[in-house]
Order: sequence, then C-alpha cells, then structure tokens
Amino acid sequence: MALITENLQATRAQIDAAISPDNHAVTLIAVTKSQSIDLIEKSINAGQRIFGENYVQEALTKINALRNYRLEWHFIGPIQSNKTRQIAENFDWVQSVDRLKIAERLNDARPPYKARLNICLQVNVSGETSKSGVAPGQLEELARQVASLPRLHLRGLMAIPEAVDNETEQRRVFRELKNLFEQLKQKGYPLDTLSMGMSGDYKAAIAEGATHVRIGTAIFGEREKSA
Ligand SMILES: *Cc1c(COP(=O)(O)O)cnc(C)c1O
Repeated sequence: MALITENLQATRAQIDAAISPDNHAVTLIAVTKSQSIDLIEKSINAGQRIFGENYVQEALTKINALRNYRLEWHFIGPIQSNKTRQIAENFDWVQSVDRLKIAERLNDARPPYKARLNICLQVNVSGETSKSGVAPGQLEELARQVASLPRLHLRGLMAIPEAVDNETEQRRVFRELKNLFEQLKQKGYPLDTLSMGMSGDYKAAIAEGATHVRIGTAIFGEREKSA
C-alpha cells in the first residue's frame, strides 16, 4: 500500500514538473495489465480512478470486481474483431483503433444507454516495431470515417513508439504525432486527446504536448513475464 501510494505521488509530481507553466493539464492513466485486483484497489485508495488494460478477458474480471468504484477504463491493447462487443459494452475509451472495420463493430455494439464510446486512433509513427497503428498517410481518411460513426466520439491520437533511451529521439517521434494531431485539428476535427508516453518516456511526451500518459511499471513495479 505504502509503496503504491508513494509511487503514484512521485509519478504525479514528475508529471507536474514536466508540464510547462503555459501548458495544459496531463491525465495519468494507470496501466494495470497483469497486475492484481488487490494492487489496483490500493491505487484506487491512493486516489487513482483512470485505468488502462490490454487484454479483454483479464480486464473484464477486474472491471467486474471493482464495479462499486466510479472508475474510467481505457482499452489500450490490440483489438480482435471477435472482442469488439465486450470492449464496447464495458470500456469508456478505446485508444487502439487503427482500422475502419473495428471502429464500425465498436459503433454497432455500443449500448444505447451508454454515452458515446471515446476513441483514439492509434498511429504507427516512425520507429515503431509493432504492426499496429494506422500509417500517417492513411490517418485523415480513417479519422473522417470514424468521426461519422454516431456511437463513437473521436477524441484524438495514440502511439506506442519503440522504447529508446535517448530523449532527443523520444521527442522527435512524439513531435511527429503532435504534428499529425495539429494537422487534423486544423482540418476541423475537434480533437482534445494526445495519448503518448509510458514509464520510460513520459517526460519527453509531455514536453511535446501529451494530454494523457499511460504508466504501468513506474507505479506498480515490473510486471510478471507471462509464460
Ligand atoms: C503496457 C503499456 C503501457 C505502460 O507501459 P509501462 O512501460 O509499464 O509504463 C502503456 N501503453 C500501452 C499501450 C501498453 O501496452
């Protein structure tokens, strides 16, 4: 308990220190993949309310166990089309949308009694090793299509750049995403969310304009390596 509280406080302090005086607020998303319900509850007791999860089954167990708290859940992992219904029914945000088919399925499955599902488009910025993410050249077309889906609320962009130690290189890649974000805003998309930065690079991301950082290890410690 003490450790999670200290880690959270230290992380929040570092985030605040990285925000320049004329800058926006930064929202901390605590990434809880492979962490226990008990640890998540400790972070809730330390004031955390916004969580990110990567795997649907694992997330549903946690969302269900913690449903007496008012929490906000972000889906941040790769999306299989046979999981879109469970995601649309249980999450508040989906940050990893990178193709129209998935967006359409989320739109169709979002329950009418819930608010529109908040969406970030995941962009494959340069230096990315994963195959996830829309290519920058296809981003505007995808944004146009997703913005037209009535049960989705297009909020912004997300990226997961390759981990590098060099802060100059970290910032260069984050700047690319920020530029794409600004270009879309200039074209009239009312975006307010730029989700970039993890434990190893969130200071660089904030310096380049992140509005949301997704942090796991710095709060909860190293994850168990899955078999
Ligand atoms: C695991 C994960 C994070 C958090 O990574 P840490 O290095 O543990 O902070 C952030 N975003 C995504 C998409 C992740 O999968």
